[in-house]
Amino acid sequence: MQSKACYDTAVKHNTPVIVMEPVKGGTLAKLPDKAQKLLADYAPDRSASLWALGFAASLDNVMVVLSGMSNIEQMEENTDYFNSFSPYGSDELRLMQEAAQIILSDIAIPCTGCAYCLDGCPRNIAIPRYFSLYNEDMREAEDKHWTANMLQYDNISKDFGKASECIGCKECERVCPQHLPITEHLKDVSKYFEKN
Ligand code: SF4
Ligand code: SF4
Repeated sequence: MQSKACYDTAVKHNTPVIVMEPVKGGTLAKLPDKAQKLLADYAPDRSASLWALGFAASLDNVMVVLSGMSNIEQMEENTDYFNSFSPYGSDELRLMQEAAQIILSDIAIPCTGCAYCLDGCPRNIAIPRYFSLYNEDMREAEDKHWTANMLQYDNISKDFGKASECIGCKECERVCPQHLPITEHLKDVSKYFEKN
C-alpha cells in the first residue's frame, strides 16, 4: 500500500524508480495453487518469481529491478528472461491483477519474513516465524485440532517469547516495512496456537 503511494508520487514527478524486493522476500516465489495455475496456463515455463520481476519491470519509470538471487541457477533464469523481455501487455497485466486478488485472499498475515522487527523486541518474540506458521494453517479453512505447525510453535516458543507475551510496546511496528499491525496479529496467533 505504502509502496504504491511512493511509486505514484515518483511517477507524478517523472522520477526514475528502483524496485527493491520485487518478490517480497521470496513470498511471491510460491503462489497459492489457483494463482499458480492461472499464470501457468498462460506461460507454462515462467516461474512465479519471473512473473513478479517482469511485472515490476513493466511499470512506467522503473529504471532498475533489484532481485535477491541466492544461487547461480536463479541468476541464469533471470538473465535469460530479461535478455528477451518485453513489458507486459494488457493480458499479462490482467492476469497479474487476478493473481494478486487470489494471493491477498489467501494470506492471513502479509509478512515477508524480513525479520527487521526482531532486534528491538524486548520479549524476543519470533514474530516472522510465528506468522509463517499461522499463515500455513490458515490456508486451509477447516477447523483443526492438531497440526504440525502447532507442534512447531510449541518448540520455537521454548527458546523465544510466546505471542501472548507481547507487551504492546510497538517497537516492532515502528520498523516493519510492510506497516503491519503486528501486535494485533500476535493476538490472533496466540489465540490460535496457545488455545490448549
Ligand atoms: S509490541 Fe510486542 S512483539 Fe512488538 S516489539 Fe513490543 S513486545 Fe515485541
Ligand atoms: S518487519 Fe514486518 S514484514 Fe518484516 S518480518 Fe517483521 S512483521 Fe514481517
